[in-house]
Amino acid sequence: MLGAGACLGACFFASPVAAHPPHSHGGERKIEFPDIPGYKTLKTDFHQHTALSDGNVWPPIRVEEAARDGLDAISLTEHLEYQPHKKDIPHPDRNRAFQIAAPIGKKNGVIVVNGSEITRDMPPGHANAIFLKDSTKLVQDDPLNSYIEAGKQGAFIFWNHPNWIRQSKTGEAKLSEMHKKLIADGLLHGIEVVNDSTYSDDAIQIALDNNLTMMGTSDIHGLIDWQYNVPEGGHRPVTLVFAKEKTEAALKDSLMKRRTVVWFKNELIGRAEYLNPLIQACLTVKKAAYVKGSMVVSVEIDNNSDATFVMENQSGYALHGNADLIQLAAHSTTEIRVMTLKTLPAFDLKFKVWNAITAPAKHPQVSIKVEVK
Ligand code: ZN
Repeated sequence: MLGAGACLGACFFASPVAAHPPHSHGGERKIEFPDIPGYKTLKTDFHQHTALSDGNVWPPIRVEEAARDGLDAISLTEHLEYQPHKKDIPHPDRNRAFQIAAPIGKKNGVIVVNGSEITRDMPPGHANAIFLKDSTKLVQDDPLNSYIEAGKQGAFIFWNHPNWIRQSKTGEAKLSEMHKKLIADGLLHGIEVVNDSTYSDDAIQIALDNNLTMMGTSDIHGLIDWQYNVPEGGHRPVTLVFAKEKTEAALKDSLMKRRTVVWFKNELIGRAEYLNPLIQACLTVKKAAYVKGSMVVSVEIDNNSDATFVMENQSGYALHGNADLIQLAAHSTTEIRVMTLKTLPAFDLKFKVWNAITAPAKHPQVSIKVEVK
């Protein structure tokens, strides 16, 4: 979206700072999710602004925020066509934010990829092109030429905030003919299902129907700490990217192949083929034993992630002393008691995971194998 300076009334609803629930784990603010089989889980935020377009901070602050949040990669996607600070900071070179941030990122272990926001009326609206070689070449009169140039440079291109009320009166995300053509021409690869404090079911459906990568970003203009109430345990939205290794090339390959899950508030959003292994990797049975003299098993489940899992028991076994809805708090171990009615050496627990989303109104089921000791 556009920063505060550009708002014409519509932005006054902008996110209340206290809207994000805490994910405290010993005061640690770094965003933590485990790797999944075959891939590293990289934490990324590929939609951010600095004073080089309509943001309020200088690029090194973005790198430092990212390092504090434990991010692996970011992009400073300045608006190509909107530069409200240009009287104070004239800069015809649209690569400037990247040039300033990239060496600082290297020192901090944060990969900074060159990117820009193509900022147009609908259609096609706003889109980010990342992994660019030269952003300045995307400054074109015809928006289609900006996409074509980004395509020539091998960029990964995603549609930003498709449900933005300023560009969609009904608040729906809908593909225009121009978007359909961009997808057909291989010039649109992803879509934001989450932007800042907004989520879109429509965008998820568009991603599934058109083979687009699901993205979640902060679109930050001010400070991450203030916008997401980080001191109180909040966090920015991020895209978890499942990559063979932590390199720019591996990130791009993974994004092109749609290997992402979005972490937003307490929700995990993504394709089942990545979301399910991620949930499995977050949860491990630490201990399982029958309560002495009973047929009730005490199962301790360890959650090594930032998500608090809200799960509905669908195992076919009742839980002892608990309703069917349980919570496994972030970075902690939770004991549940399962009534197996006879002594079993092993069994499967099945849960519907309410805070995970694979399609509009669709929540995945995970299966956890319990071996009784
Ligand atoms: Zn933006």
